[in-house]
Amino acid sequence: MPPSTDLEFLDRIEPLFSAKQIQDRVKSMAEELSEYFGDKELVLVVVLRGSLVFAVDLLRYMTIYPEVEFLSASSYGNNLLPGNTVEIYMRPDLDLEGKELLVVEDIVDTGQTLRQIAARLDTMNPTSVRYISMLYKRLPNQANWPVDWFGFEIPDLFVIGYGLDYRQKYRNLPWIGYLPQ
Ligand code: 5GP
Repeated sequence: MPPSTDLEFLDRIEPLFSAKQIQDRVKSMAEELSEYFGDKELVLVVVLRGSLVFAVDLLRYMTIYPEVEFLSASSYGNNLLPGNTVEIYMRPDLDLEGKELLVVEDIVDTGQTLRQIAARLDTMNPTSVRYISMLYKRLPNQANWPVDWFGFEIPDLFVIGYGLDYRQKYRNLPWIGYLPQ
């Protein structure tokens, strides 16, 4: 049994996408990506930690056989501020030169994380870089980062589940919900 504090917290969460809706959407994106990348030498670049669950499902539904690499990105301070630093960690001997990359994100909010990942990957001379995010936040009066594919567009809400955390927990929920203000 989970502690009652977890149950009380989850009781406040409003559902947004069911496990079935998510799986159907991920499967259809995996099919589209398999067709799109075809026989290219693809590398999935999984952005830890939030996109772990999405990346695993995407990979399992794919009918092509990409390589998989990881990087981790963490932002400090208020990431709504432009110019805020995002720390990017990757293994030091990671060689992406001449590779076709698909960067896998959980959610694009301000786009600051992807903007800085893109700048870093550009210095590594890949052949191409494409971006996919499970969720894409539509922000009022603000352009974020243009991804090539996304699962669902959402309004400016704080969401949890399917890899997305609240204070590092609840990433393993198979559905996505939001915390009401
Ligand atoms: P961005 O740099 O696009 O503003 O934010 C990207 C990162 O912030 C995401 O990869 C995610 O880790 C975190 N983030 C942004 N919005 C949410 C949200 O609604 N819920 C959770 N759990 N994390 C979020």
